[in-house]
Amino acid sequence: MVGDGGRCARKLNVAITACEKCPRLVEYIRQVAQTKRRAYRGWEYWGKPVPNFGDPDARILVVGLAPAAHGGNRTGRIFTGDESGNWLFRALYEAGLANQPTSTHRDDGLELRDAFITAVAHCAPPANKPTREELQNCQHWMKATLRCVHGWRVIVVLGRVAFEWTLRALTDIGLDHSWKPSAFAHGAELPLGDGRWLLCSYHPSQQNTFTGKLTREMLNSVFVRAVQLAQMQE
Ligand code: SF4
Repeated sequence: MVGDGGRCARKLNVAITACEKCPRLVEYIRQVAQTKRRAYRGWEYWGKPVPNFGDPDARILVVGLAPAAHGGNRTGRIFTGDESGNWLFRALYEAGLANQPTSTHRDDGLELRDAFITAVAHCAPPANKPTREELQNCQHWMKATLRCVHGWRVIVVLGRVAFEWTLRALTDIGLDHSWKPSAFAHGAELPLGDGRWLLCSYHPSQQNTFTGKLTREMLNSVFVRAVQLAQMQE
């Protein structure tokens, strides 16, 4: 039987996928889907806003920045088919939140348990940089996600930009907190005042993982801690 969370998440994903609020991004993702990367010539790219993914009854909500042009924008599943996703799903698997450590395409059998992934922008942006106006546009979906996955107890935010826009969305839905964007630091655990938590991690982008700024152990420990905090509130 499908619960309210499942119905809500499915309807939300349909709406996100049809969104055309940001003309620059819509044009970009379609153009990338047509030109493709040589290595993926045989793929039919998704080329649309990338929906949320995971367990709609989750207690742990993971917030990324935006899909990658040849990752989520190709496969149609968030963090799927790129190096950042390889890091993220391995960490989720190690923490017991995923049934497999890899995420290669939409029908690869991956399932999340007690975790749900969203992003502050649902369209892949040029150079991985959405504008402030585009991030503002996409807040509508972030707020709808926070309401839909209403059992969340812990939010794991991947990177400073995701952190800032998650704070804004929480304020907008009426969650009373006093955190400012300057509170971001890898491993920071920020109480939200109602028994819920925000946990910060560096984004598992190649910029961070190739340079050693973020190691697998650092990322794993954030998710292990997220599970502990979610369970403490049972
Ligand atoms: S980034 Fe968000 S608001 Fe903008 S077109 Fe994509 S889904 Fe819509």
